[in-house]
Amino acid sequence: MFQFCTTCASPHIRFEAQTRFQCPDCGFVYYHNIAAATGCIIHTDKGILFLLRAKEPALGKLDLPGGFVSPGESAVAGLRRECLEEIGWDPGPELSFFASFPNTYPYQGILYNTCDMYFTLSAPALRKADLCREPEEIGGIQFIQPAELRIEDLAFDSTRRVIQAFLDRQG
Ligand SMILES: [Zn+2]
Repeated sequence: MFQFCTTCASPHIRFEAQTRFQCPDCGFVYYHNIAAATGCIIHTDKGILFLLRAKEPALGKLDLPGGFVSPGESAVAGLRRECLEEIGWDPGPELSFFASFPNTYPYQGILYNTCDMYFTLSAPALRKADLCREPEEIGGIQFIQPAELRIEDLAFDSTRRVIQAFLDRQG
């Protein structure tokens, strides 16, 4: 990611332990820590709400509402903001923590390691008409019943793991 030290311009800067850039010449250290991200399983009587990704990574695959947590935000506040941005709907504060999985997110040549935190919300009567899709990032909104869901259509490793865990817990 960095080819030169941003402090002394040395070309000897090294990336160590998957977390930090360290310059042996001037001692500069930069931590490239994991990013916190959230996702929400909104389940309705029409199925689970999925978003069709309109951009890379995982273009055309199914994703859950959510995204990166911004500086100064809690996980729940970040997730509510992302839902408002992506589907024009606030899930409210009554989100239940469900599970967390690690994920990787390649973006413009940089691999971000994330800690994805998933929440669930039961919203039986929610319909497409209640939602407003963000057109640049979201290609469509779909409700899919668990029996019709194909795990290979899901966008990310963490998405596949959390949906599988959710379906397993539903019995
Ligand atoms: Zn340096």
